[in-house]
Amino acid sequence: MKNFEYGKPASIEQALAFLNKGTPDVFLMGGGTDLLGEIKEGIVAPAAVLDLKAIPGLAGIKKEKDALVIGAAASIADVAENADIAGLFPALHQAAGVISSPQLRIMGTVGGNLCQRPRCWYYRDASVLCAKKGGSKCYAEKGRSKYHAIFAGGFCWSVYPSDLAPALVALGAQIVLQAAGGERILPVARFYAPPIVNVRKENVLAGGEILKEVRIPLPKPGDKSAYVKFIERGAWDFAVVSAAVWVSAAGNSVRDIRIVCGGVAPIPWALTAAEDALRGSRVSQISVSRAAAKAAAQAVPLSENGYKVYLLESIVTDAVLKAVRAPHS
Ligand SMILES: Cc1cc2nc3c(=O)[nH]c(=O)nc-3n(C[C@H](O)[C@H](O)[C@H](O)COP(=O)(O)OP(=O)(O)OC[C@H]3O[C@@H](n4cnc5c(N)ncnc54)[C@H](O)[C@@H]3O)c2cc1C
Repeated sequence: MKNFEYGKPASIEQALAFLNKGTPDVFLMGGGTDLLGEIKEGIVAPAAVLDLKAIPGLAGIKKEKDALVIGAAASIADVAENADIAGLFPALHQAAGVISSPQLRIMGTVGGNLCQRPRCWYYRDASVLCAKKGGSKCYAEKGRSKYHAIFAGGFCWSVYPSDLAPALVALGAQIVLQAAGGERILPVARFYAPPIVNVRKENVLAGGEILKEVRIPLPKPGDKSAYVKFIERGAWDFAVVSAAVWVSAAGNSVRDIRIVCGGVAPIPWALTAAEDALRGSRVSQISVSRAAAKAAAQAVPLSENGYKVYLLESIVTDAVLKAVRAPHS
């Protein structure tokens, strides 16, 4: 492991000033639970690491007039245990509560969870120069693909590992990116970009930017949500397939719906075919399974992950029914 400079900025302005002073390979750090692993495994070699956790105000969770605002340095445990989040955004509460172990939830931050790198075994192997690391191909395409993507692969078939990301996309949240010249606000859905845009990155964060906070619009009457995650081991595992659902409903009638999956694509993946099939309809077990099957029919599995197509159908069906049948917040 190469030595690196370690900085503990006291403000976001100090962090931005360091980021913009021209040192190459400056990495931002939240809890370090992903970044330090990447450094130790030789996947990245920073010249400097900026620890954002000590920046005052960056870890707050506050309810404003129209939105709940979560600072990038808030821990996953803070999100899982926050009473406002549990009441207003069940999908986010449920997603945060099933991330890994209590220790990782205490160390890991929201910003780090949303910017973490894929867990693909080829990407995480320093001896393999895959497309994501600047090589010419994705080794999963013709190689071992049990945990890989069934949508939007091609240049890279890794899956995005975050549980918070699909929940936030489904809830219509926005992300605030701070640069020295000001901030830009994007829907979380547009923060992520598929490999065809840039195979080396999963998001559109620019070099001089810091993810500052996430803003989730407060629910309107009839808004409900849920998160369902399938893991292979009993606990502490990444999603094989997960589904976050936000629904605006009156009884069983769906006015509007968003269904966003984890574990199936290189970015959080919206199942628009299922959303279109359910929008404006009365839901039943049969109509939801048919809608989920429609979305699953668009999957392009690799040689070892065809099982994910069937899993997707059942996880999505469970998540939609769980959201529709949930009590109003
Ligand atoms: C055994 C194990 C099991 C896990 N299981 C799950 C799971 O089930 N579900 C799940 O979602 N995750 C899981 N994870 C991943 C874990 O949740 C992430 O490692 C964690 O959320 C990252 O947060 P962090 O603050 O430690 O990020 P860091 O490691 O500090 O950073 C991660 C990345 O984000 C960047 N970054 C951090 N903060 C910012 C910011 N504010 N602005 C811009 N960039 C930033 C860093 O530069 C780095 O590239 C697991 C990890 C392990 C080791």
